[in-house]
Amino acid sequence: MNTNFTPQEALKKHFGYDAFRLEQENIIHNVLAGKDTFVLMPTGGGKSICYQLPALMMDGLTVVVSPLIALMKDQVDALRTNGVKAAYLNSTLTPEQQSQIIFQIRNGDIKILYLAPERLISDGQGFLDFLASLKVSLVAIDEAHCISQWGHDFRPEYLKLHQLKKQLPNTPFIALTATADELTRKDILDKLKLENPQTFLSSFNRANIEYHVKAKQNSFEKLLDFLDARKDESGIIYTLSRKETESLSARLRAEGFNAKPYHAGLKREEREQNQDLFLRDEVKIIVATIAFGMGIDKSNVRFVVHMTMPKNIEGYYQETGRAGRDGLPSIAYLFYSSGDLFRLKGFAEVDGNEDQSKVMLQKLNIMAEYCETRSCRRKYLLNYFNEEASDNCGSCDVCLTELEMMDATRPAQMVLSAMVRLQSSFGMNYIVQVLRGSKAENIWDSHKSLKTYGAGVEHSKEDWTYMIKEFIREGYINRSHGQYPVLELNEKSWKVLKEGEKVSIAKPEVETVNREQHEEQEALPFESDLLQDLKRLRKKIADEMGVPSFVVFSDATVLELATYLPQKEEDLYKISGFGEVKVDKYGFSFLEEINAYCRIHKLESRIDQKASVKRKTTKKKRKKKSSGSSDTKLRSFELHEQGMSMLEIAKNRDLNAVTIEGHLAHFVGEGKLSVHDFVTPEKRKPIEDAIEKLGAEKLAPLKEALGDSFSYGEIKMTVKHLEFLESKK
Ligand code: ADP
Ligand code: ZN
Repeated sequence: MNTNFTPQEALKKHFGYDAFRLEQENIIHNVLAGKDTFVLMPTGGGKSICYQLPALMMDGLTVVVSPLIALMKDQVDALRTNGVKAAYLNSTLTPEQQSQIIFQIRNGDIKILYLAPERLISDGQGFLDFLASLKVSLVAIDEAHCISQWGHDFRPEYLKLHQLKKQLPNTPFIALTATADELTRKDILDKLKLENPQTFLSSFNRANIEYHVKAKQNSFEKLLDFLDARKDESGIIYTLSRKETESLSARLRAEGFNAKPYHAGLKREEREQNQDLFLRDEVKIIVATIAFGMGIDKSNVRFVVHMTMPKNIEGYYQETGRAGRDGLPSIAYLFYSSGDLFRLKGFAEVDGNEDQSKVMLQKLNIMAEYCETRSCRRKYLLNYFNEEASDNCGSCDVCLTELEMMDATRPAQMVLSAMVRLQSSFGMNYIVQVLRGSKAENIWDSHKSLKTYGAGVEHSKEDWTYMIKEFIREGYINRSHGQYPVLELNEKSWKVLKEGEKVSIAKPEVETVNREQHEEQEALPFESDLLQDLKRLRKKIADEMGVPSFVVFSDATVLELATYLPQKEEDLYKISGFGEVKVDKYGFSFLEEINAYCRIHKLESRIDQKASVKRKTTKKKRKKKSSGSSDTKLRSFELHEQGMSMLEIAKNRDLNAVTIEGHLAHFVGEGKLSVHDFVTPEKRKPIEDAIEKLGAEKLAPLKEALGDSFSYGEIKMTVKHLEFLESKK
């Protein structure tokens, strides 16, 4: 085992993170002690680190079994950007690629291997024997609920995993899942046959997600308002049907939003393409059925909208959980209507299975109760998962909204007396019809002669519906469960009718929000133009590597850069997400962008405002690194002098071409390299003209003006060259 570093130091070194989250540290200690471990952690909690970090600290190979083939490549790419030797084996690889990887494993060249479960059994005992012949130091079972029929995603191949456990009796296993329910949990332990596993349960609170529920009237306009305020952000919009995903995404496109549909009925190529564009931030909004998401690990999803409420809290929690995996503030936004509730109740009936229907219906009612509650939504969710929570979270619509009350005693009396006369055996719509004196055919003739018939014409149908819901919410009326609920009187009703008790309810949809004060606490003053520049740089690097942007750096990391403005390499180590390898590989390019911005805007670094984490060894490391790799530019320079092209240097040094370009541009700026090496004279003229016109502060407008036949590199080199000439004046 590599004992040179403590887990915390290794976390900083390999992943650039300062501190462990939730139970990560305890989990890692348990794994390193060679014990079996069971981890329950919400989505985005940071499960991967729990096995990736021990993998790097132990000798030998770590095998990660995961059913999410679509995710493997991104996970492996992300590890590689951190300098970790990782690989995957699944059906997307050709036999040649697979044998290549097996060769590398045999050679001890792979540290972390991701495996699809079917790969374990695809050639009978063969692959298991192969694994047993290696030094496997840890096996991680991701999405461990797939082993249970009680979970929502049963995979029969997972049942073979206990065979792997038998084959590797001395290797510790770690099983991880975000599925919380008791039954599934027990089943996982039972089926995997772990040895006295220690269980680590983390809170299911997703503190960075704000929960909002809105009435579903004019939902499209409300949605547009919501999206208008988030033009550059990525999000998922869930609809109930395939058809809706297509129509809604088309309407959004017509409004100028970059939206695409996703559902299981689309042609495979189209589905994959839409998903891919979304992952690469080229499509901002995916309008999807719940088929979308299982394989989505995109960390910068800023919002999840439900156009229709989900069938149960578990689904809602899981779908909203796809927002904000990077820990940045995100929003869950749901449109609720009792019409939808009614529709869903229709689907909840499972033919010929009364018990299951009952359970489904009950779960649906709880979901509706969540939507209708007037108390903290976060608390409601956590309590549902058997967790305690405070009464006011400060970040759900209920806690953020101050209600304005109104007196509704008279309307309440009218509704209640109508109910008395109708003998508590009718639903809300019927009662509203009677109050408004409806001439509809379904109204009984005998009801047309009641005193309350038509007594409430002064209020609209919508007003009455709203008020009755409030009366239910405030406990003045009971509503029966079942598919056709009726309104019933209770003790409180009689107090209003007989004792003249006053009824006051919330005014509809007034949001005098105490948000400002709330946002002030959290908002970080960041440089938004710089943020865009840095994101563009990130995308360029990512495109060059053929991976999504978040694989290079999460939004959280880029945001920290634009907030704390690190200007030296050693400052970068204080930015969350910059481990050693990433400082080496990308540090230069990002510093260059930040420094240029700070020069133009006359800004100082704010890195000292970042609460620093003091640890001796990393500091020592830091020093060594910073003296060591200020030479990194120089090394590129030397290779250039030896006649290598930019691409060759990039390959030679295992760095990006963009990085090398930055290194060499530096020397052009110092006059040590000639601009002629990089830009032809014919091209230089138009570039210089454009700079004259537009200034050299930003490359993007220059590039836009010059068009496709000019590269960023050529523009940058010319800018640097002019800087050099300027400095000589
Ligand atoms: P999960 O698998 O539990 O859904 P991930 O392992 O994908 O979550 O982690 C979610 C995000 O949080 C990733 O971007 C990961 O790099 C980041 N992360 C994990 N642990 C930490 C930590 N200790 N500090 C900062 N970021 C972390
Ligand atoms: Zn709340």
